[in-house]
Amino acid sequence: MNQNIQQMIHKIRTQQKPSKDDLVHLLGCEPSSATALFAAADSARRRYVGDEIHLRGIIEFSNHCRRSCRYCGLRKENTNLKRYRMGGEEIYEAALAASRNGCKTIVLQSGEDSYYDADTIARAVKMLKKLGLAVTLSCGERPEEEYKYWRQAGADRYLLKHETANPVLYSQLHPDMTYNNRLGCLTALKALGYQVGSGCMVGLPGQTAKDLAEDLLLLKELDVEMAGIGPFIPSPHTPLADASPGTAEMTLKMIALARLLLPQAHLPATTALSTIDPLGRKKALQCGANVIMPNVTPQPYRHFYEIYPNKDREEARHADCRQQVETLVHSLGRSVAKTPGHSPKQQFTRERQGESIA
Ligand code: SAM
Repeated sequence: MNQNIQQMIHKIRTQQKPSKDDLVHLLGCEPSSATALFAAADSARRRYVGDEIHLRGIIEFSNHCRRSCRYCGLRKENTNLKRYRMGGEEIYEAALAASRNGCKTIVLQSGEDSYYDADTIARAVKMLKKLGLAVTLSCGERPEEEYKYWRQAGADRYLLKHETANPVLYSQLHPDMTYNNRLGCLTALKALGYQVGSGCMVGLPGQTAKDLAEDLLLLKELDVEMAGIGPFIPSPHTPLADASPGTAEMTLKMIALARLLLPQAHLPATTALSTIDPLGRKKALQCGANVIMPNVTPQPYRHFYEIYPNKDREEARHADCRQQVETLVHSLGRSVAKTPGHSPKQQFTRERQGESIA
């Protein structure tokens, strides 16, 4: 049995097109086999991306959203949420503080909020680049020209999760969006030279192990530079408020398999995972993850970016305190990266193009 698991792990690591059945099998494996999977992922992580853990400071600059995603607390129909928007000065102050705290990358994330036009975002990108920071944008679906404009302004990366690779489930969860458009945005971002992050939720209502295997195969096909994989957590005042959450165990298996399929990718230990399991962050870092995303959004805004409940409580407990992050990182025998952690795949191309590796 264990030999069988080892063979599957080997095939997944080495085959260009891994088998969906093997992925489904590993996602359903017993805890003893999962231990072997996690060990293989941890060893691949060490070999391909090393022992450094990258800190990506996330600024959630607006919780306004024009979308109706059925799982998300920011959905426009949620009138129970106090909405906010941060100004340029506030974003700058938050980024400066994060940079002084060791973050080399700032992730600017928001709901889909067209209040911020292309120029406003471009100005924010330029401002952060002047601080010597790498910049990831995560503002949802926007026209390709805007993605291009922001790339020209200096944005290094774009994070747009595909959420689920099952097109039927995707359309059920996103009544006002299409799966094809999501993939079109990801393809456009790639073509523009962004380091692209995508990812999915684990444990969505109606999602099967086959769907999760498709998520992994899609991430491989897109050859993403970053994959954010976290559990679905039911959020009050949404149509899925009473659904069951995803499990930590399945999320960890997904992270481990993502590491084997995409050895050089950056994989965050997500806040969502540590919201459902207090040891989730540490466990993820031990089965393939190499990124922590401290929330550096100032209060009181942070409290209102409530995509699911208790998110800010978890962040306060863990990720945004430099001391706690260092204690965690050192307890694992690892270190906090001193570089921005650009994708190892893209480093060479960027140097050839004469871009500064800020
Ligand atoms: N608007 C941007 C976009 O579309 O990419 C980013 C903002 S969106 C709130 C950020 C992420 O939150 C989504 O990609 C989704 O995976 C996650 N999210 C939203 N609701 C969630 C929930 N109930 N449980 C877990 N993750 C959730």
